Amino acid sequence: MRLSDVQHQPRAISILRRSLSSGRTHHAYLFEGPEGVGKQMAAKALAARLLCLSPDIPADADACGTCASCRLLARGNHPDFHLIERRLHKLHPDRTIRAGKGLFLVVDVIRTFLIEPAGTKPAVSSRRVFLVDEAERMNEGAQNALLKTLEEPPGQTCLILVTSSAERLLPTIRSRCQRVAFGLLPPEFVARQLGQRLNLPAADAEALARLAGGRLGAALRWHRAGLLDAAQEAAQSIARLERGGVTRFSQELIEAGTALATRLAQADSQQEHHVEGEDAEDSGASEGGGDEMIDEEAVAVSGRRGGASALGTSELRDALKLVLMLVAAVYRDALLLNVGGPAALHLAAQRPLTESISQRTSAAHLDTCIRAVAHAERMLDRNVTPALVGEFLGAALVGAAPVPIVD
Ligand SMILES: [Zn+2]
Repeated sequence: MRLSDVQHQPRAISILRRSLSSGRTHHAYLFEGPEGVGKQMAAKALAARLLCLSPDIPADADACGTCASCRLLARGNHPDFHLIERRLHKLHPDRTIRAGKGLFLVVDVIRTFLIEPAGTKPAVSSRRVFLVDEAERMNEGAQNALLKTLEEPPGQTCLILVTSSAERLLPTIRSRCQRVAFGLLPPEFVARQLGQRLNLPAADAEALARLAGGRLGAALRWHRAGLLDAAQEAAQSIARLERGGVTRFSQELIEAGTALATRLAQADSQQEHHVEGEDAEDSGASEGGGDEMIDEEAVAVSGRRGGASALGTSELRDALKLVLMLVAAVYRDALLLNVGGPAALHLAAQRPLTESISQRTSAAHLDTCIRAVAHAERMLDRNVTPALVGEFLGAALVGAAPVPIVD
C-alpha cells in the first residue's frame, strides 16, 4: 500500500506527506469522508510508512515495500499493525462478546484489541499502529474508553480512525485527532473503476457512477443490491402513474423500497461474509422481528431516533430514499431532454420513457416534479408514513397536489 496509489485525493495526501516530512507525525488521525473514496487505502499506506524499517527513504516517501516490516504487512501478519473492525468480536476471549452480532465496536473489543496492546512495546517496528475502521460504530462506552488513550497516548502509538460519519463521534474524540478530509471522486473515475472491477457495461457503470456522485463505495454497494433494476421498476411505475392512479403508484413505490431494502441487507451481509470467508450467523440481521439490536443498529446507521415499533423502518426509509433518487433521476433526465441540453442522462437505459415524459410535459412542471421528490424526501426524514409520502408524490407528479416552494 502506497500513498501514491490513492487517487484523486490530493489534499488529504499532501497533509499526510507534510506531516511525514516534518518528522512530527500525530498520535491520532481521523480520516473522514464519503464511503469508498480511498480512506482505508490511505490509512493502510500511512500505517505501512510509519512501520517501515528502511533507513534510506525520504521522510515523506512511501514505505519501501521490501523491508521486514513491509513484508510482514503484505502477508497480513504484522505484529504491530492492528486492524480494529467489527468482526473482531469473534476473537474476543469472552464468550458473551463472541456471541454478539458485532453491530458495534463495543467497549470490550476496544479494550482488548486496542487499549491493552497500545500499552505494550512494539515487536518489530518503532511503534504500533491501530487502524479503526468504521470508527463511528464505536458506541459511546467504547468512545469514552478510547478517549483516555487519545489524551495520553502510550509511547509510540499511532491511531488512525476511519469514518464516513465523523459527526457520530464524540466532539472530544474528534478534537484530539488530526483531521484529514477525503472528498468525492470524479464520476468518470468511479465509472472506470466500476467497469474494471465488475466488468460492467459502460452505460451501467456510468449510470451508477452518476447516481453515486463520486462515491465509489456507494456505487459498489448499490450494484450489489441491483439498484439499476430498481431504476427500471421506478421508471415503469412512473409510466403507469397517469393510468394507474396515485394509490397504486404509492404502493409500487413502497414495494420497490421494501425489495431494495431487502437486497441491500443481503448484499451487506454477503459482503461481510465474503470478507470473513466463514459462518453466516448474521445473515438474517435485517429481516425478521423482535431483535432489539437490529433496532439499535437501524438508529445508529441512520442517525435518527427510532422506537421499538420502528423495526427495520430505518432501512426501509433509506431504501425508499434511493427509490426517490431514481424517480428524481427520471425527471431530471426528462428536463435535460426538454431543454435540449447536452444529453448525458443519469439513466440512459430509461431514455424511451424520459423522452416520452419530456415530450408531453412542460419544463416548469418537470421542475415541480423534481421539487416534489425533494419534498417527499424531507417528509420521510420527518417520519411521515411511506404510504402518505407515496400518495403525496404521486399526486404532485400528476399535478394534482401543490408542492411547497419552501419547507
Ligand atoms: Zn519498508
